[in-house]
Amino acid sequence: MEFGFGEKETLFKDEIREFVRENIPVKKYWIMLDEGETDEDWAFIMSISKKLAKKKWLTLSWPKEYGGLGVSHIQKMVFEEEVGYWGIPGTTMGISGTGWVGPSLMIFGSDEQKKTYLPPIAAGDEDGVWCTGYSEPDSGSDLASMQTYAERVGDEYIINGQKVWTSCAHHSRWMWLAARTDRNCQKKHDGISLFLVDMQSDGLKVNPLKNFVGHHLFNEVFFDEVKIPARNLVGTENRGWAQLMTALSFERGMAIGASGMMRRLIDELVEYVKGTGQIHDPLVRFRLADLVMEVEKLSLLGREAVWKVERGDIVIHEPSRDKAFVDELLDRLTQFGVEVLEGYSQMDPLRKDDRWTRLRGMIEQTYYFAIGMSIAGGTTDTQRNIVANFGLQLPRS
Ligand SMILES: Cc1cc2nc3c(=O)[nH]c(=O)nc-3n(C[C@H](O)[C@H](O)[C@H](O)COP(=O)(O)OP(=O)(O)OC[C@H]3O[C@@H](n4cnc5c(N)ncnc54)[C@H](O)[C@@H]3O)c2cc1C
Repeated sequence: MEFGFGEKETLFKDEIREFVRENIPVKKYWIMLDEGETDEDWAFIMSISKKLAKKKWLTLSWPKEYGGLGVSHIQKMVFEEEVGYWGIPGTTMGISGTGWVGPSLMIFGSDEQKKTYLPPIAAGDEDGVWCTGYSEPDSGSDLASMQTYAERVGDEYIINGQKVWTSCAHHSRWMWLAARTDRNCQKKHDGISLFLVDMQSDGLKVNPLKNFVGHHLFNEVFFDEVKIPARNLVGTENRGWAQLMTALSFERGMAIGASGMMRRLIDELVEYVKGTGQIHDPLVRFRLADLVMEVEKLSLLGREAVWKVERGDIVIHEPSRDKAFVDELLDRLTQFGVEVLEGYSQMDPLRKDDRWTRLRGMIEQTYYFAIGMSIAGGTTDTQRNIVANFGLQLPRS
């Protein structure tokens, strides 16, 4: 395995840094799930998506025929680490457009679906903004128990039910939906299908849910006799579970960018403790050094997974392994940041310009984000179960 980056990747990093200098003001640090709190923020995010799309950076590793640049996964990884380090917003097209809707459609979608839905994502258009409808009030880790029902009637499906924790639904033009299509199957996994749902459909209602810091990120989404054309089924009816697992491994693989984010936090904290004199405290130095080593490990794990993909392996447990690592390391790092900032860490993360706020609120923001990160895309326990099943071939829990 090649551990280092080559000249091409180093030059690409410089190009990304140039883009950041020209387009991303430093007053805010953007993290994925913090996106779009106000209309002004959302407009800024979409303006960056457009600029990234012009360079084809939104869809770097997509094949050229779908609006990508067709670069290697290694180069894509460099991009994601830089996105995390600099906090570049607008890279995901909602919560899922670039990350898993596009890549999944390339595998499972019909030609018509690819032609219709991939170009707006690659172009950074409002029409290419997607949310993901998996979780329900009684169905999270045990996702296969979902009850939202899509019934085939003629050349339509009629959908009834409820989704919850739907990130970005209030900005999204489309939903990537998992729903039950067979209530009588023997195994609950065998009656699930994936659909592309127009968020402007009659009978579909989005209700805001503010999270515990007051951010409007999540929503509840209700389906009351929502009709969609049958051609919006992805792949084969009742075979959605396998497609869902593929889409989820794309989602979990996005944890790679977290090593960039953590490097940035460490760099900021190092500067901070130099300023306060805490740098002379042996425990602070020791913990910083320890965190740097852990972030390096994470980055190497990510590189190993990407290297396997590049040589054609199918990676199953690796994205879960890496996400579990991110979940716990981000928790440790932000906990350390809170201790270093002492009383200043108690600021409201939404008040980034307050005179008591330190490091532009980055530590508070990521401290709260870490809790959600360890749940989103499947909890750390769920990731461990996947590593146990597929990495170690242990029986299911
Ligand atoms: C920031 C964020 C963004 C999200 N965005 C979306 C989104 O866009 N779309 C969407 O559909 N969902 C989204 N979610 C929801 C997320 O996918 C679920 O919250 C998650 O899958 C956990 O489900 P749950 O909340 O029902 O918890 P539960 O499944 O009820 O879990 C409760 C606890 O039990 C543990 N547990 C459960 N089963 C097992 C087991 N078999 N073995 C060991 N431990 C277990 C869990 O680890 C957890 O600690 C988001 C969540 C967060 C926090």
